[in-house]
Formats: sequence, structure tokens, C-alpha cells
Amino acid sequence: MTSFFKQIADYTQQAISAGQYLLKGLAVTFDHMGRRPITVQYPYEKLIPSERYRGRIHYEFDKCIACEVCVRVCPINLPVVDWVMNKETKKKELRNYSIDFGVCIFCGNCVEYCPTNCLSMTEEYELAAFDRHSLNYDNVALGRLPTSVTTDPSIKPLRELGYLPKGVMDPHEIPDNNPRAGNLPSQVLELMKKEAISKDNSLSNEEGKGGQSK
Ligand code: SF4
Ligand code: SF4
Repeated sequence: MTSFFKQIADYTQQAISAGQYLLKGLAVTFDHMGRRPITVQYPYEKLIPSERYRGRIHYEFDKCIACEVCVRVCPINLPVVDWVMNKETKKKELRNYSIDFGVCIFCGNCVEYCPTNCLSMTEEYELAAFDRHSLNYDNVALGRLPTSVTTDPSIKPLRELGYLPKGVMDPHEIPDNNPRAGNLPSQVLELMKKEAISKDNSLSNEEGKGGQSK
């Protein structure tokens, strides 16, 4: 008989604990329901990187003097400067330059110390590749002009996390009635349709005027 009551007491205790865990989980859910959405609809929306963002390094072959300062200041001696000495002119001749972004830690030392400013950090952050060897960029790949979130017409750049109002460190602190910085893909589509219609109208108006003047 005693063991029967003990079983009931244990069962009740377990049921109470399960209920408590459930309530704790729901409390987190309800807390988030009252918050402002900060989800980025990637790849239709992308955040604008901050002004001093350290992304893929851009390199200008013509400005490089093969001094190898970038190699010496790099914490892992990463840049490979391939040069030969021209015995006639007694000057270095640069053959190739490469940086492996699978290893680079984007510290920016090479950019800071390069005497000819031929290195610069871009805001390009999409470096994912299927093959790690393709992350080893030669001077041609490094010389490619960087893509920019703000100049790509197919995406909506978001300023929300990159440029929060002064003094605000948490996007949840922004009031609910504050409009979202960017638009959702459906809203972008609507805007594009409206723009196309207004363009068509203005073109037909211009054609009409041209026909009248003739
Ligand atoms: S950013 Fe840093 S780790 Fe990458 S190549 Fe330059 S110095 Fe080396
Ligand atoms: S520090 Fe600049 S100039 Fe010198 S080798 Fe490196 S990239 Fe070229």
C-alpha cells in the first residue's frame, strides 16, 4: 500500500516538473511574440556591411613592388609573392601574387602596412566554395572589382543591423511602430511593377509629344 502511494507521489511530482518545463518554454515563445522581427530574407535581402568591414582583399598588380612587407606583417605569413630578379635592370619582376582566403583571418595587417596601398579590404563577405582550393585567389581573382550590396539591383539592401540609431545596441529596443528599414520580397515586387508601369506611361507620353510636334 505504501509503495502505491509513493508511486502516485512520484508521478505527481514528475507531472508538475513537466508542466514547469512546458511553461518555461512557452514563456520564451511569448516573449519573442512581442518583439520586432529582425529576420533578413537572404538572399533577397542583405545587410549593408559597416563602413570598416573587413571582407575579401582587393589587390592591384600594377602598384605592387614585391617588397613582401605584407608577408612579414601577416601573422601567418600568408600572401605568396612570386617574383624573379631581372639581372639586367637589377629590379624585381613580379610574376604572381596570391592569398588563400581559406586560411586568412582578415586581420587587415597586410592592408595597413602595404607601402603602395595596392591592397584594400572590400565589403565582399560571400566567400563560400565547394572546394577549399578555390579559396586560394591569385592576382587575377584578387584584382576583380568587389560586388556591393547597395549596387546590386536584384537585392534589397538593409541598413537595420549595420546602422542602428545612435546609442541603440539592441534592435529589439526600437519601437514596434518604427518602419522596417528594408522591404520584403513581395513588397519589392510590387514596387518594381509600379516603377515599370510609370516608366511605360512616361515613354508613351514622350512618344505622343514627339508625334504631335512632327
Ligand atoms: S588579412 Fe591578415 S591574415 Fe589575411 S593575408 Fe592579410 S595579414 Fe595575413
Ligand atoms: S606590401 Fe604591398 S607592395 Fe609590398 S609585396 Fe605586399 S602587396 Fe606588394
